[in-house]
Amino acid sequence: MASMKRIDISKYIFAELISEVNGLCPLCSEPLMTLDGTMQSNLSQAAHIYPHSPTDSEIELLKDVPRLSDNPESIENLIMLCPTCHWKFDHPRTVEKYMQIYRLKEKLLQRKKGRAHYKKHNIEEDLISVLQCIGHIDIVADQRKLSYKAMTVRDKMSRGASNSIQQLVIRDVRDYYLPISDALVQLEHDSPGKSELIAKEVALFYDDLKTRGFSQDDIYYAINDWLDNKTHQQYTFLTPFITAFYIQNCEVFSL
Ligand SMILES: [Zn+2]
Repeated sequence: MASMKRIDISKYIFAELISEVNGLCPLCSEPLMTLDGTMQSNLSQAAHIYPHSPTDSEIELLKDVPRLSDNPESIENLIMLCPTCHWKFDHPRTVEKYMQIYRLKEKLLQRKKGRAHYKKHNIEEDLISVLQCIGHIDIVADQRKLSYKAMTVRDKMSRGASNSIQQLVIRDVRDYYLPISDALVQLEHDSPGKSELIAKEVALFYDDLKTRGFSQDDIYYAINDWLDNKTHQQYTFLTPFITAFYIQNCEVFSL
């Protein structure tokens, strides 16, 4: 029988919480861990979102708020903050501040949930050639623009995507849909079947997120981040154009 290794929970939770906020206080951007030569500092403090031992007045104050977990010690109820922001969060405790941190943590948990599935969803390395191609395109010189009439982006994203994300996608489709189509035609010419495979891989990842109940905004973010991760963080600025392409092309948010 395989032996189960005992996990050091406190270290595991510490690592999870630090990675969740990318090592920065999510409220003021203070680096939580620094290493300068041999000087180390750790400013991270795991704050309880719903208080661990609420006073009577805190119980009354927070009686109607939603909670991320019934167990105040669970990782869902903890968030890494710097000491200053932690103190401000607790003094005085208000429903407004509670809801701000609640929503922030909810978003962080959702992102972590998406990331847990990146490994099983691969994408062809050839997507990199498409990104390299569009990275060299001068969209100002390229006079071709996809007419707004041809777009159904707004229809596809009207069920939950925020207005700002809809605007971004519409702009990216207008500017990059045709250049990306050209790059995919070239890829298809060089490696038959590849562009179809990429489209299928994007559609599969989208379906997985949709099945898991991700909102349209969370899906948009997760696809950008997944593409960025799969292309080794070399084309971060370009991956949203690819996401927008597949929204217009119906692999994502199909009607
Ligand atoms: Zn802070």
